Amino acid sequence: MKSDCIFCKIANKEIKSEIVYEDKDMLAFKDIDPKAPVHFLFIPKKHITTLNDILPEDGALLGNMFLKMKETALKHGISSDGYRIVANCNKNGGQAVLHLHFHLLGGRSLAWPPG
Ligand code: AMP
Ligand code: ZN
Repeated sequence: MKSDCIFCKIANKEIKSEIVYEDKDMLAFKDIDPKAPVHFLFIPKKHITTLNDILPEDGALLGNMFLKMKETALKHGISSDGYRIVANCNKNGGQAVLHLHFHLLGGRSLAWPPG
């Protein structure tokens, strides 16, 4: 828990969120400014700042997060049409919140060019 981190506060239930999945290691909640009909954020409950900060010992956690994102996509009906998982890293990657998170986006075409 990093005391000035908004996503640690969400994980700790100090800030409200619309939770779509939770277990002891991760939380998934609706993005407050959705870019697609389905836009969830998956975060580890422990504070990891960026992709640069993941460690070999985080491998199982990250693997489980991908399994849960896949299951969540299926549950929300976006598996067969498809979806996008995004993780932004630092300034040039466009990371606004410095707590590792994966965006799960779907429910519309994200392909470019559209088609
Ligand atoms: P990023 O630019 O990859 O760091 O993405 C941060 C995301 O967090 C953005 O899509 C924001 O809309 C989202 N966000 C910021 N604050 C909250 C919040 N309190 N609850 C839900 N989503 C949030
Ligand atoms: Zn944090």
